[in-house]
Amino acid sequence: MRKKAFSPLSWGLALAILVLGLSPVHALEPDYLCAEKDKNTHFFVRHRWYKKEFPLKVYLPLPAAQIPLKDREMPVEAVLTAMQSWHNAWPFIRFQLVATPKEASIEVLWHEQHFYKGQGRWGDAYFPEPIKDHKGKIVRHWSKINLALMAHPGSAAFAQQPVPLNFQEIRDLAIHELGHALGLIHSDDGNDVMGGGNHFLVTVLNKRNISARDVATLKRLYGIPIKSNKPVCLHK
Ligand SMILES: [Zn+2]
Repeated sequence: MRKKAFSPLSWGLALAILVLGLSPVHALEPDYLCAEKDKNTHFFVRHRWYKKEFPLKVYLPLPAAQIPLKDREMPVEAVLTAMQSWHNAWPFIRFQLVATPKEASIEVLWHEQHFYKGQGRWGDAYFPEPIKDHKGKIVRHWSKINLALMAHPGSAAFAQQPVPLNFQEIRDLAIHELGHALGLIHSDDGNDVMGGGNHFLVTVLNKRNISARDVATLKRLYGIPIKSNKPVCLHK
């Protein structure tokens, strides 16, 4: 019996099957800079720190005395570890502690429990917000980070009572909020520390670390030329 030769069509089909078979089902972009449709070049170049603003000056106080805590230094240590993690991930990112909020570019505010519009949150942060001179030129930026010390009832701890967050949780939370304070938006993937919403809880609960995508996104953000006319994202 004569063997039937492969036609070019079947080779093409075999190749297509091979390629499809090798690529992941949900192929991720190498970074998530364009994951939020309302953010684009104009937003990015305004909401990031100037190179001259590094090291970023951070006011990181001890939690206030009226907040019932066994260890008042642990949360501060957790945020310091988070700052170190960003620096280790990309040494361009540097922080420096300052003694007063007045000297700070980023102010950390501790809350026993944190609520926004009646909704419990573990934390939130401002993107670097522009400060303009009298001519309207952006001269520098500021940011604030709100961090809860206790998970509100019904959140990830699934408790009826507010439960104190542990070192790992505060550190993971601080890495995420510092990411916003550096200008990062939410990632579309829970493997990144900037994964938002449910992704974020998955991220925290799985003790994930800063990913290659987090770093790639940050590098692309800070690599956009200031006077770029080219749209960074294709969706606008
Ligand atoms: Zn977030």
